[in-house]
Amino acid sequence: MKSLKENFQKAHIVIIGSGIIGKFNALELSELGFRITIIDPYEQKNSSNAALGLMMGNMYQKRRGRSWDLRRQSIELWPKWIEFLKKFNYELNIKKPLIQLTTNEEKFKKLEKFVYENNNLNLQILKRDSIIIKNISQAFQTKNIKGMISFDDGRINATSLLKTLDKYLKNKKINFVDEEIIKIRKSNNQWFSTTKNNRDIKSDIVILCNSLKAVDLIDTLSHNIKLKPVLGQAIEVSINDAEVDLLTLPKQFNINGKNIITRSKNKLIIGSTDEYSTKPEKKIFEKITNFLDRQPTWLINGRVTKKWFGIRSRPEGEPSPIMKNLEDGLIICTGFYKNGILLAPACSKWVANEIKNYFS
Ligand SMILES: Cc1cc2nc3c(=O)[nH]c(=O)nc-3n(C[C@H](O)[C@H](O)[C@H](O)COP(=O)(O)OP(=O)(O)OC[C@H]3O[C@@H](n4cnc5c(N)ncnc54)[C@H](O)[C@@H]3O)c2cc1C
Repeated sequence: MKSLKENFQKAHIVIIGSGIIGKFNALELSELGFRITIIDPYEQKNSSNAALGLMMGNMYQKRRGRSWDLRRQSIELWPKWIEFLKKFNYELNIKKPLIQLTTNEEKFKKLEKFVYENNNLNLQILKRDSIIIKNISQAFQTKNIKGMISFDDGRINATSLLKTLDKYLKNKKINFVDEEIIKIRKSNNQWFSTTKNNRDIKSDIVILCNSLKAVDLIDTLSHNIKLKPVLGQAIEVSINDAEVDLLTLPKQFNINGKNIITRSKNKLIIGSTDEYSTKPEKKIFEKITNFLDRQPTWLINGRVTKKWFGIRSRPEGEPSPIMKNLEDGLIICTGFYKNGILLAPACSKWVANEIKNYFS
């Protein structure tokens, strides 16, 4: 009798879309022994390349439901994957801690209640006289900033993560096809993914990881899935370093919903916007820096030295993300409106379990 692994080795899986979700699925499935082909013509322009890489897992305030379950599983899986991927990039890591701040009294009360009820030493309310709060208040010239610190949450550099996954996939000799898929169909228990150049790629399984475009490849009448684009922009701001030393700030933090990454003494990254469009809004600086009642002068006078965006897909009428077994051999894993980086390990695990069951 053939072992399960031998069965897996015979099966060919096509993954359409090579963002973080497609690449992570390829990693998980290739480690199980499957033969994988990833297909993507525009991977440099996807939303994964735009991501800031913040991973808000433990600080997520809901402690039940699907969203929390996916976060909880990802939090557990990340350390194992980082350890594994270090073989391909020893510098890959999750920089901790992560700080969440607010100037809204009601929101702060909720944070306090959450931290109190959680009873987790790695999640703490920042004391008013702590050095972190003092430095942030001073830099942002405001007195009413408050918040919490999570020693278990942090940030992974998304570009570095994607490059590391590429290195792994290359090392494993995973087949990569640089073409767009325009159609998929099933015939005699096999799937055929047709490229724009009219080439058919045959496989036992197809996984749709192509974000918004996934709906173009499925029969939307029998699978009622709707996705809308949500564009996110981020900027790098350079400031006059005579006014403030940004290195006194934490490496990664969030104020009133905006993520901030300190890059150097005079450079920081701020993101992102939520624009319900496929074209980036032009005058973005005011909008993205408007997270306090009054901005400090160094920020108002800052110069945008880099600007980028990504288009995410948001499910309509159902929660994000969409992970479904649509029919025998066809799986969809899309709609990662936010947190695609954080959730990639848990979602890939779900897909792998579906496929294991299919072959068992
Ligand atoms: C500015 C910004 C900041 C963000 N910050 C964070 C953060 O801090 N933390 C976090 O967890 N998440 C963050 N995100 C969200 C995160 O980037 C997304 O959730 C995640 O990248 C979604 O990954 P994906 O693989 O589903 O989609 P994508 O990365 O968009 O990949 C989809 C791929 O499918 C390909 N494709 C489409 N159609 C076809 C086709 N027909 N044939 C072949 N290939 C096709 C595309 O070329 C693309 O490469 C941020 C997003 C943005 C825009």
